[in-house]
This record gives sequence, C-alpha cells and structure tokens, in this order.
Amino acid sequence: MEMTINFYDVEHGSCTHIITLNNKHILVDIGSKTYKSITSYIRNKYLRYYGGNIDELIITHPHEDHIYDLPQLYNILKPRVLQRPKGAFDIIPTQNTALHKEIADYANKMNREYSNPIGTGENPLYSSNNGGVDIEIISSADSWTTKDDLNTFSSIIIINYEGYKFILTGDNPKSILQNMIEINYCDIKNKISNATALLAPHHGRTGEYCDSFFKLVNPYLTIVSDKSIVHTTQEKTAQLYKGRGAKLYGKERYVLTTRNDGTISFTVTTNSCTVSMNQEGY
Ligand SMILES: [Zn+2]
Repeated sequence: MEMTINFYDVEHGSCTHIITLNNKHILVDIGSKTYKSITSYIRNKYLRYYGGNIDELIITHPHEDHIYDLPQLYNILKPRVLQRPKGAFDIIPTQNTALHKEIADYANKMNREYSNPIGTGENPLYSSNNGGVDIEIISSADSWTTKDDLNTFSSIIIINYEGYKFILTGDNPKSILQNMIEINYCDIKNKISNATALLAPHHGRTGEYCDSFFKLVNPYLTIVSDKSIVHTTQEKTAQLYKGRGAKLYGKERYVLTTRNDGTISFTVTTNSCTVSMNQEGY
C-alpha cells in the first residue's frame, strides 16, 4: 500500500501531485517554472508509456501562479475531471501579454467544457476509486468571495491516507481562515486537526499567517511553495510555522521550502511516512 505526494518546485506558484496505489494521478494546482513545463516533466516521468491522462485536476483558485501550465496540461495530459471554484470564472488576464491571455483563455474554455465534471459515473474523489486515498475539498462560502480578489475563492484540500493527513491551501486570506475556524465551517476543525503536513497558505507570507488555523492543523511539517525571497515577510515564515517538527536527515525541521529543498516528496505506506527532498528534480 503506498501513496506519494510531490510538492514540486514551481518557483512562485503551486503544484502538488498525488499518486495513488491504483495509479491515479491527481493534481492540486498547476503552477510551473517559467519556460519549463511541469506537465512535460510529469508525462515523461510517470505517464509516458500509458498514453495517460491526469485523472483529476483540482484548482484552488485561478490565479496565474496556480494555473500557469494549464494550456500544456490540457493539450498533453487532459484531465478527466476538473474541480474549481466556479464562481471565480470567467477570469481576465492579470497582465497584458500573449502568455497571460492564453492561460486565461484555456482556463475559461475548460471551465465551460467541464460544466458537468462527473460524467462518467465515477467520481475520482471517492476513496474507493483512489486506492484508499480520501480527498475532500472545502470551498469558500459565496458570501466571502469577490472577483476583485480571486484569493478569496481559495479552497482547502484535505488528503487522508492510512491515518496520515495532508492539508493543502491556496492563497487563502487570513480573515477567511479565521472565519472558517470561528464558525467551524463545514466541520473544518475536526477535518484539519493534527495533520502530518500543511502546505502553507499564500506561499507562507507573514501577512496571511493565521494563528488559529495553524494551531489547529498542528502539523509536523509545513511546506512553503515559493521562490527566492521577494517579499521581506517570507523571512519570518520559519519562526511562525513552528509545528511539531520532524527529524530529517539528522536535522530537526519544521518548515520545508521548495526554494531551498527543491521538490518535496512524501511516501506514505500503512505504517510509515517518509520525506525526501530533491535539489535537482524538476
Ligand atoms: Zn499563489
């Protein structure tokens, strides 16, 4: 029994890849390095001989750093199922470049095309279809969202497997996370508590650190998906996200960053969870 989760180094962006025992491939966001397609990497490493598709793409929110490689994904490994916050669409490009227009065009096209995502009688989110991996999406309440700030649409993704729990966020504003905890939105307290690892909200920015949320998640490790420090607030990330900690390669670690550690992978079996970091990988 095994599940792998890769948090790819996609610079300032986010892309998480879940591979289940029965060889399902699920992506949460599809950020990518500039000029280096994460989709091509995934195909070459995992799906070259299967002529495969991505089974499911979950978009936390449609900002470019979370959907940068969407055109490639659609053309090379077209996802069978697309989950996204529908209220955020159609989107408009944040910059007036051909690339940004192309990304927005694909996102809007896919949002229309996948209007009825579960068409095949099989929902890949059910653990029975996912080799025992249970995936739940908590989306933002309509009253909290505004198209003026697409971050407000950010979902929280909860992955459970063999007693190990992973909490993935998008660029969730602190105020919404606070609300969710305060009113125990969708029974969130129970669902996110005492996780194995957390993908930090908004690339670990200090300004979006939400203490009540983090204390509840109480992870061993926090993962920050970011590139070299451009927001001075990132310097404080390691102090803020101090969870339970884990001994990795002889060192006590609390926060792993794609910037310093490269792609970060968790391999979970029935009674173990191992972490590896790859400086040279994608
Ligand atoms: Zn982002």
